[in-house]
Amino acid sequence: MKIDTELEKNWNKILNLVRQEIAHSSFFDEYVKKMKIIDFSGNKLFINTNSKFAKVTLNENYKEIFKKICSDVLEKDVEVIFLSNKDEKEFVTYEFEMKNNFSDDLNTNLQKNYTFDNFVVGTHNAQAVLAVKKIFDGELPWNPIFIYGKTGLGKTHLLYAVGNRYLEENHGKRVKYIESNEYTQQVINAISEGNTAIELLKNEFKKLDLLLIDDIQFLATREKTNEIFFDVFNTLYHLNKVMVVTSDKPPEKLDGFAERMVSRFASGLTIKINLPDVSTLETIIKKKLIQMKLIDLFEPSAIKLLTNLYGNDIRKMNGALNSINFYIQTQNKKSRIDEKFIEKLINEQEVIRKINANYDPEIIIGRICRAFGTNVENIKSKKRNNEIVIVRQICMYILHKKLNLNLSQIGILLKRNHSTVISSVKKVEKLIKQNEEIREYVTTEKWKD
Ligand code: ADP
Ligand code: MG
Repeated sequence: MKIDTELEKNWNKILNLVRQEIAHSSFFDEYVKKMKIIDFSGNKLFINTNSKFAKVTLNENYKEIFKKICSDVLEKDVEVIFLSNKDEKEFVTYEFEMKNNFSDDLNTNLQKNYTFDNFVVGTHNAQAVLAVKKIFDGELPWNPIFIYGKTGLGKTHLLYAVGNRYLEENHGKRVKYIESNEYTQQVINAISEGNTAIELLKNEFKKLDLLLIDDIQFLATREKTNEIFFDVFNTLYHLNKVMVVTSDKPPEKLDGFAERMVSRFASGLTIKINLPDVSTLETIIKKKLIQMKLIDLFEPSAIKLLTNLYGNDIRKMNGALNSINFYIQTQNKKSRIDEKFIEKLINEQEVIRKINANYDPEIIIGRICRAFGTNVENIKSKKRNNEIVIVRQICMYILHKKLNLNLSQIGILLKRNHSTVISSVKKVEKLIKQNEEIREYVTTEKWKD
């Protein structure tokens, strides 16, 4: 609990000013004078009135006066919240939970390698970057920040960057990134488990300091899911907790959302991410090539061609670069990459087959990992726990049988030798016969999306 010394010093002065505004002096003597300050952090002043009657009376008649006097005396905007004894108990428990929850391992869902350092700012996204960076100045002139734009233009990357930076600068704060279809799934599960599960889920969210919601257009528009979402959203909003939402369309174009939700989204700041210009695209490609240690092989003409081909979708562009990288890594000789080289690759259908997001092996591996609850790092590591080994084997099977990669290509991708790949593929062939979950995953080609 924090009580600011300025407030302590000025409390009697505040009370004296309030006394002049209160019609019944007995109410003042009996209740107001005896009130206890509970907490004053940020701009919220929590006061225990010791009685439900006093709380109601103050709320109905004197809240605005209190707010004005406190704000004037303390020279900042103060919000006054009157509590009863019962509220105070709840407040203390809530505070306690907030403080002691830091040690639990809240899954932030953040991908650590998407940061501001590897996010290129151009005219297409400058406004969005400027807006989210305000979060780190500790002020939040807008809430929520609603960012929309076509797929592949960096929305998810930006959300991760915000989350990562926020955690870096605010140790112990609670941050969560969530895709709205994953949120929907969690709600559906909770609903099937009953009311307690729903309350627990809601509380999990309500305790957050920063909530990043990706692809809100996929939020299922079922009534219950919406209702729970609105409740969580509203609570965080009123607690001044930061929310950043992304979407592929502006709030007013969202389908099937209740009006009150749309107006909440639109009540903060709405910003569009546009298509990047050529020089920004070139910077993005160059950064990626430096990271891949390929920059020295690339001719400017090759970079130009890539910007022309993939300028409206950076994800596809990265997919193409991954495929080129993949191709180069599997060649013995490192040839220079110019326009002709890329055209040739495209003509040979090599790149075309893989730049399609559905066929980029790295993306497929990522999806398989997510579906089975692990991550790419684990899969490429030396770890040998059963759960990881199985997912790794499933990756090898799908890459070989469905994407037609050869054994040595798979070996390079997953850092395994040839014979491990062969035995893994065989193992999964057996597993498919025995295990329904795996069979369904592989045969219904769920790894495609
Ligand atoms: P969206 O969520 O808008 O569909 P993503 O954030 O997934 O797009 O971006 C797609 C890919 O493009 C990611 O690999 C991301 O790192 C990359 N990317 C997008 N914008 C930028 C940028 N401005 N700088 C660097 N990489 C970017
Ligand atoms: Mg995205």
